[in-house]
Amino acid sequence: MMRQFELVELVKSYDPKADEVAINRAYVYSMKAHGSQKRASGDPYFSHPVEVAGLLAQMKLDSASIVTGLLHDTVEDTVATLEDIEGMFGLDIARLVDGVTKLSRIELQSDNTKQAENFRKLVLAMSQDIRVLLVKLADRLHNMQTLHFLDETEKRRRIARETMELYVPLAERMGMHRLKDQLEDLAFAELHPDARTGITNRLGFLRDQGGGIVPRIVEELSETLDEGGLKASVSGREKSPYSIWRKMQRKNVSFEQLADVMAFRVLVDNAADCYHALGILHSAYHVVPGRFKDFISTPKPNNYRSLHTGLIGPQKQRIEVQIRTRDMHEIAELGVAAHWIYKQQGGRVDGRQYRWLRELLEILEHASNPEEFLEHTKLAMFQDQVFAFTPKGDLFALPRGATPVDFAYAVHSQIGDTCVGAKINGRLLPLRTELSNGDQVEIITSKAQTPSPTWERFVVTGKARARIRRFVRTQQRTQYLDLGRAIVQKAFRQAGHDFSERPLEAIRAQFNCETVEDLYAAVGEGLTTGKLVVNAAFPQPPDTANKVVPLSQARRRGRPNETAVPIRGLIPGMALHFAGCCHPLPGDRIVGIVTTGKGVTIHTIDCDTLGSFADEPERWLDVAWTSEEADAGHTGRINVTLANEPGNLGSLTTTIGKQGGNISNLKITNRSTDFFEIMVDIEVADVKHLTNIIAALRATPVINSVERARG
Ligand code: MN
Repeated sequence: MMRQFELVELVKSYDPKADEVAINRAYVYSMKAHGSQKRASGDPYFSHPVEVAGLLAQMKLDSASIVTGLLHDTVEDTVATLEDIEGMFGLDIARLVDGVTKLSRIELQSDNTKQAENFRKLVLAMSQDIRVLLVKLADRLHNMQTLHFLDETEKRRRIARETMELYVPLAERMGMHRLKDQLEDLAFAELHPDARTGITNRLGFLRDQGGGIVPRIVEELSETLDEGGLKASVSGREKSPYSIWRKMQRKNVSFEQLADVMAFRVLVDNAADCYHALGILHSAYHVVPGRFKDFISTPKPNNYRSLHTGLIGPQKQRIEVQIRTRDMHEIAELGVAAHWIYKQQGGRVDGRQYRWLRELLEILEHASNPEEFLEHTKLAMFQDQVFAFTPKGDLFALPRGATPVDFAYAVHSQIGDTCVGAKINGRLLPLRTELSNGDQVEIITSKAQTPSPTWERFVVTGKARARIRRFVRTQQRTQYLDLGRAIVQKAFRQAGHDFSERPLEAIRAQFNCETVEDLYAAVGEGLTTGKLVVNAAFPQPPDTANKVVPLSQARRRGRPNETAVPIRGLIPGMALHFAGCCHPLPGDRIVGIVTTGKGVTIHTIDCDTLGSFADEPERWLDVAWTSEEADAGHTGRINVTLANEPGNLGSLTTTIGKQGGNISNLKITNRSTDFFEIMVDIEVADVKHLTNIIAALRATPVINSVERARG
């Protein structure tokens, strides 16, 4: 284990201005917090955060990252709290530690590529500071280095798979090739131990047979470049077992058929020298066609820059050569982590060197597709996204503000259409609840449920909105159609005709309707009236026409009309609306007023508002309750006058509650020293229910008067 002063010295070697005090405090704090905890290896647990800090120091990261590395497991695994960390080390460190802690709770649960992709987005969305991700990657690297100490095979494989699918691509996207290679090789060893051993053995065999072939090729390449008048440093290596294995898989060939298992690197001072070196090598050796790639003029999305070529090189060996400048090399190896090196070297964080970083960060801000890790969505968009799980662990990405209804529709349209409730992290919560990152959402469905028009007010996804709208539109059409048919039938009877669709066929064109059903729907929607339809169907009205009694008069006579249109099955909010002035309740005598484009508004027959429709008898529609409305839940409104004394409001609400009335709104409309006037909206079953409540209130001593609101 790295000792305290060794860590501090390492950090100071590349960053003389590092916060020595903070690192020392974090070292001691973490040691005390982890106390006697042990790792699977038997080592003290504390060795893990120290190793992680050491890896971060090798990446030459800033003091805050090193401190975070030391503290990264304290909140999750010890009694230390985030508040403790903030008190000791400040808000910035606390935020970084919190970020790493949250990332550690994410576990990849599925092998599905799309899931892995969503997880990568989730990780990026949660790493608002890129250092959170760097610490997490170092944490993962050390856990992978010590993976073999774990006893359970299943757990080892899960961690290795997660590394391969989640963290390797992230390291790749951040341009951190050295880290990526390490993670990849460790995961490979766990997931395909036989393949890796086979390849390693073959490589060893070739090495022995060739008798130091790599150094000999390096030497010859150096001489060739030197003779060409170029100062360059050349290094050579065998390719990693995993990259060889991938190539064998991709090309479906055996190890022996793989030509170039050796890769050589030429480092020069500037970009012009890269092309110079390329020219020298291409004239000295045979070029393997189709292997030349210029990533200097066209850098990779993660800002990797280099020239690649394939040669039949020294010793007649087929080799791959990468040519790049030392700056390009540092970026290729360290990627985004190189940012802090430049930052620490003060004054160099500008101009061209800074541009690559900006570009790299911009690229990081792009989503990735499974092949190239590139997509055109911005990281900023992930911040606008929320990621939630099904109980089985499937992950769904939704826009921020998404609700369980959005989630249900994302899982399946059928689940959306029939959802009645949601459990979020095990708690039953309203369907309008906004989801948070990492929520587990269980949707409760019922076959009896259909999409509610009210859902449209809180859903945010296009899919949910489209489904709800489509349902509402179809429902609306059905409702207008049923209502319109009833109105037309009634108009026929009132005019003394037997109802038949035949005359309607003849006249529908006059109303610009393609079918008789369209005509009904138009009448139901209030675009035309039943009377106009009848007049068109029977241009010479029979002498029974004078029997027609305008509904406004019928109402005054106060007798129920046997031609009343039942409002059964009409869903409030679509073809049917309950007037806000008089709050009609089942059991009330009611009348409908047809409103163009909105269907019918229901008023109580004694509502004051009706006076303003007296001159338009054609808009009046006799309607009747059916037994079903009683279940729907209706709002009745009462006005109460109450003595202004302590506890009286309590008596009012208690009395209403005892009668089974649910108060949905309450407003003080007038207040004097003696009295309050209060308007109360109560959800009741029907008019009888409301009457009972009013009677009970009148029997309450502190209540002076109670009246039902009348328009
Ligand atoms: Mn850890």
